[in-house]
Amino acid sequence: MKIVLIIGDGMADRAVEALGFKTPLQVTEHRNLDALVRNGSSGTMDTIDAGVAPGSDTAHLALLGHNPYEIYSGRGPFEAAGVGIEVRPGDVAFRANFSTVDANNIVIDRRAGRIKDRTAELAKDLNMKIAGVQIICRESTGHRAALVLRGKGLGHNLSDTDPHKLGEKVKTAKALDKRSAKAAKVLNEFMKRSRAILETHPVNIERKKQGLPPANSLLTRGVGVVPTIEKFEEKYGIKGSCVCGTGLIAGVMRACGLETILVPKGGDLDSDLIAKANHAISLLKTNEFCLLHVKGTDNRSHDGDVEGKKKMIGKLDEMIGFLTTNLKEDAVFAVCADHSTPLEVRDHTADPVPLCISGRQVRKDGVQRYDEISCSKGALGRIKGTRLIHILLDLAGKSKLYGA
Ligand code: ZN
Ligand code: ZN
Repeated sequence: MKIVLIIGDGMADRAVEALGFKTPLQVTEHRNLDALVRNGSSGTMDTIDAGVAPGSDTAHLALLGHNPYEIYSGRGPFEAAGVGIEVRPGDVAFRANFSTVDANNIVIDRRAGRIKDRTAELAKDLNMKIAGVQIICRESTGHRAALVLRGKGLGHNLSDTDPHKLGEKVKTAKALDKRSAKAAKVLNEFMKRSRAILETHPVNIERKKQGLPPANSLLTRGVGVVPTIEKFEEKYGIKGSCVCGTGLIAGVMRACGLETILVPKGGDLDSDLIAKANHAISLLKTNEFCLLHVKGTDNRSHDGDVEGKKKMIGKLDEMIGFLTTNLKEDAVFAVCADHSTPLEVRDHTADPVPLCISGRQVRKDGVQRYDEISCSKGALGRIKGTRLIHILLDLAGKSKLYGA
C-alpha cells in the first residue's frame, strides 16, 4: 500500500468578497478532489498549531512529523539544500540576492535587473576560505543564490546584510550573541572580498557594456543553522520521495531524507502538473511514500489573483484525476494545503486547512465536497499537522503498535 500526500501550497482561503463571501475551493468545480473526499474521511488541520501562521518550510517540516520549534532557525539552510549544496549539521546558511550597488555600497537594484543568466559563473568565483572557514556559494533561480559558512565555532545569531530597501547602504552583519562573533567577522570579510571580485568580474563587465545593471554585490538574509534531522526512512521505516516546484521545498525534503525531484518552471499557471504526476508515479515504484507539492495556488494568492487561483485549483484537480487513474498500486491519498493564503490578505494566515484522506478501507464519512467548510464537518475533526503522517502510516498498514 502506497501513501500519496498532495499539497496545494496556500490553497486554503477565507471568505472572499469578490466570490460572494465564499472561498475559491467552494466556488470552483473539482470533480476529482470531490471523488477523493467521498471515498474517505475529511477534516481540518492546524499545520503547526492553532493560531500560528506557518511558512511553507516550517509547515512542510511539520507535515513530515517534525517539530519545527526544535529544528528550525531560519530559511537559509533549506534554500542551500534546495540548490544542491550538500549541507552538514552545524553549517550556517543564508539566502542571498545578486544586487546592484553604487560606489558607496548604496543598493540601487535589489535584484540586479532581475539577472537571469550566468549567475553560476559569478557564484563559482565566490567560493573561498576565510580564517579557516569554508565559504560555499551557489546560484539559484533568477537573481537568487545560497551561501554557506562551514567551520568550527560558528554561531548563527546574525543580522542581515540586506537592508531590504533601495537607497540604503549594504549593512554590516552584527553578531547578536557572543557565540556568533566569528561568523559575523567572516561574513563581513566575505562581503568585502566578494564585492571586489564581482565589481571586476567578466560577467559584470559584459553586463555594463550591454547597459544592464551589474550584479556587483550579494545581500544576505534568512540566516539559520543546518539542524540534525532524523531521516525519513530511519524515522518511519519506509522510503519517502517528493516532487515539488520550488527550491525551498526541495531543500526541506532533501534535509528530511526524501528522494526529491524539483520540476523546473514548476511554480505557477504555466507549470506542467501532469509531468509532476508522472514523476510521482515513477518515484512510487521504489518508494512507499510520495509528497506531491503544487506551488501555483500560493503564488496566485500572494498576487490577490482570484481567477488565477481558481484556475490553479482546476489544474490541481486535473492532476489528481490523472494520478488516481494512472497509479496502478493500491494507495492511501491525502490532500491538504500547507497553510492558508487568503486572496484578500495576500499573505499566510493561521486559518486551519481542509484535509481529506481517501482509500479503500478509509471510513466514508459522507462529506461530499473538498472545501474548507465541507471538510470541517468530517470525521477527522481538527488535527495537528505533525499527526498527519502517523495517521497515513496507520491507514497504509505501516505503523508500529504502541504497547502490547
Ligand atoms: Zn506554503
Ligand atoms: Zn506563500
